[in-house]
Amino acid sequence: MFILSIVFMLALVGFSSGTLPKHLDPLAPDTIYFNGKVITMDEDAANAEAVAVKDGKIIAVGSNNEISKLKGSSTKIVDLENKILLPGFYDAHSHFPSSGMDGTVQVNLNSPPVGPIKTIDDLIIALKDRGMETHEGEWILGRGYDQTLLAEKRHPTSDDLDKVSTELPIYIAHTSGHLAVANSAALKIAGITKGTPNPSGGVIVKDPKTGEPTGVLEESAMGLVSKHIPNVTEEENLAAFKKAVQDYISKGVTTSIIAGASKQGLVDLQKYQKQGLLPLRVTAMGSGWGGVISPGELGGFVTGFGSDMLKLGPVKMSHDGSIQGYTGYLSQPYHVPPGDDPNYRGYPAQSREELTKRVVELHKAGYQIAIHGNGDAAIDDILYAYRTAQEKYPRKDARHRIEHSQMARLDQLDQMKELGVTPSYFVSHTFFWGDQHRDTFMGPERAAMMSPLKSSIERGIKFSIHLDTHITPMDPLQAVWSAVNRISRSGQVIGPDQRITPLQALRAVTSDAAWQNFEENIKGSIEIGKYADFVILQENPLTIDPVKIKDIKVLKTIVNDKVIYEN
Ligand SMILES: [Zn+2]
Repeated sequence: MFILSIVFMLALVGFSSGTLPKHLDPLAPDTIYFNGKVITMDEDAANAEAVAVKDGKIIAVGSNNEISKLKGSSTKIVDLENKILLPGFYDAHSHFPSSGMDGTVQVNLNSPPVGPIKTIDDLIIALKDRGMETHEGEWILGRGYDQTLLAEKRHPTSDDLDKVSTELPIYIAHTSGHLAVANSAALKIAGITKGTPNPSGGVIVKDPKTGEPTGVLEESAMGLVSKHIPNVTEEENLAAFKKAVQDYISKGVTTSIIAGASKQGLVDLQKYQKQGLLPLRVTAMGSGWGGVISPGELGGFVTGFGSDMLKLGPVKMSHDGSIQGYTGYLSQPYHVPPGDDPNYRGYPAQSREELTKRVVELHKAGYQIAIHGNGDAAIDDILYAYRTAQEKYPRKDARHRIEHSQMARLDQLDQMKELGVTPSYFVSHTFFWGDQHRDTFMGPERAAMMSPLKSSIERGIKFSIHLDTHITPMDPLQAVWSAVNRISRSGQVIGPDQRITPLQALRAVTSDAAWQNFEENIKGSIEIGKYADFVILQENPLTIDPVKIKDIKVLKTIVNDKVIYEN
């Protein structure tokens, strides 16, 4: 009242409101974004031209005319110049900030278009280059090789890596993150020999003739070697973090969900946030907190703890591996088996009973749970565990997740609907491994049904889509493009019947992804009361030729009404 009357008096004595400081104009928006094509992603996907924002939140959405009337003396005006304003992209599953390690701490061993490696010789040369700057006591690390894209069509072995060095330990991770190769020096440090038994949930691959380890380590066997790798230095950590931030915000990401953060990872994020270095919002799934996850090991914090900038998300678990690594757990054999066993179906990370026991415990403690499941046999076990947990301790709207859900069958989608389970699909698989799935891993029929988005929509199942960075590069528009086109590397359409519309795909990187993370009231659409987290695009993904969606330029990324990236 007092302030209003002062405004009134000033007006009477002839001051123009244009000279009023902000505290005397308390109701005016801080910012008006106008003259744009605003795709709100609200329930009706309504269009608008302008948005008014105050204190980091949206206070009005409408036409240029309506919104411009709200302008106060201190309001900043942003002319969108007819460009596209969308809610900021919501990355539902990736591994921020570890993508920043690629090309810094770890040699980039990806094949085109992500990296330069075409043959095992290329890989050896790249590692040798790194070896020149590696000192005694240090390791040579690499990441991202994909045997299906190497000319030799096989995994590198410790013999190959010994051509780089037999003195320095070498450890390189497969693009899927579910396999790795160690050289003889690294195997020696880990004490792995002919006689070492497989750990539970993993395989030390051995030569069928000699019985010697080949250097290839699957799933939990990777840990036998990786636990000996020295920690990165603080400078390396910070450099990788900064690189990852740029990778994400330059692609329009305003929220990222880390699909499994260590306790140290979270401590680092909090430190960087305090230093003002974390411009995007991050939700961390708890995982790896001392190996076996139990509610006690999360210190009693449950899903939702934290702030809207840095939050604890679901508990992350894994129940199988990667299909292109032959470690995805299937109900029917692989199309072309990896060895002599025609019935090879991959394997689970633990028994159904062990999985269910943990899930029941975490569910009872109030967590949202997210379990990695690529193969349909893994998904069977995960659904069994979720069903058992709900029968024992019914909880409405738990929104338990299945990560990747790559080979989910239609009967499993029916169960997801019934149980209120929500998948997060690793949809860019159709581009990166669609050809290999059709020809080698799954065969044409099953490959056509990978990432069954259309069937999910038909059943009213809400889902998100993701890129699992650093498995594939961060780019939500690439995920949207894959969901809409399902085009493979060779240009074939993998499973045309499962293509969805651009609007449906955009929901899976905005409103539905926010819903999946219990944030539908604060993020994911441009509606009154939600955060002013936006991305501004050069062209409209709803009207552009669908094959060009991935080429649309991100012009600006905005969090809390603040520009965090500008092209
Ligand atoms: Zn992942």
